[in-house]
Amino acid sequence: MIYASAPGKLNLFFEVGALRADGYHPVISIYQSLAIRQRVGVEASDRWEVSTTGNLPKQQLDRVPTDESNLCVIAAKELAKYVGMQSVQPMKFFTHKEVPVAAGLAGGSADAAASLLALNQAWNLGLDFQQLTEVASKVGSDVPFSLLGGTALGLDTGIQLQKLENLPLQHVVLLVSPIGLSTREVFLAFDQMFPAGDINQSAEMVVAGIGAMQRVGKNSLLQPALSLREELKEYQHLIEGTTGYLSGSGPTIYFITEDKDQATAWNQKLSSLGHFTIMTTTSPTGALLG
Ligand code: ATP
Repeated sequence: MIYASAPGKLNLFFEVGALRADGYHPVISIYQSLAIRQRVGVEASDRWEVSTTGNLPKQQLDRVPTDESNLCVIAAKELAKYVGMQSVQPMKFFTHKEVPVAAGLAGGSADAAASLLALNQAWNLGLDFQQLTEVASKVGSDVPFSLLGGTALGLDTGIQLQKLENLPLQHVVLLVSPIGLSTREVFLAFDQMFPAGDINQSAEMVVAGIGAMQRVGKNSLLQPALSLREELKEYQHLIEGTTGYLSGSGPTIYFITEDKDQATAWNQKLSSLGHFTIMTTTSPTGALLG
């Protein structure tokens, strides 16, 4: 069995432009990878199959498809197409999840990125990072970043990446809603609310601010997400003196600080209120074999 892993992510900043003719939205995204990771093992099989384990509530794990609609399989097929494979060997994927499902934390994208890396080895393809990134961009907007990791600016739909200097280590408390939020539905609500898009600054301005941890937390999808899940507003303000931010299309609300003790106190408070939380840190590490 060959293993690879890839990180979950936050969007430290996320502005979304108007819907394009191709059905996608342009974005200005500041991606940040987290220490929580997805691990994927691959081996040849007589059919495509995905099994999922992980330290997450069962209702989360049950939402992950076991068949060919799983992003691991979609990534495998894109990889086979990219290298012009005639007959594709079906594979079994063993995924171990630390990243919550349908949470705006790129859990599925991390599975796809780890799968690409593991299959590159299992199928002896010898693709380099640039080539794997090309395949990744056909699988999903967040998959190239799941390969890269660290702190990065994402333009176009998020697939055009520019690596940024790593930020000082941050402690992060994720408040994970029991019910996921469909990315598609949040973007549909966005289109209703912002037909002309919501990009208000240049990428250069955003990058300049983020180095000093300024502009952190802006997210064009917040209002659309709140229109679908009004309790998120209350979640944002559960910690006195700070605000939780939405990651991606949500519904995860994250609280971020350089102070570990403060994060521990926040985590205890949220857990004592009965919320499912994950305490983690930012991490500079992208996808890795092993
Ligand atoms: P992103 O931030 O990349 O938009 P997300 O973190 O919001 O993604 P995912 O965890 O990737 O959301 O899951 C979104 C949906 O994709 C799930 O509800 C599930 O039906 C489907 N899915 C397909 N493959 C996977 C996978 N390997 N892991 C999780 N979900 C998957």
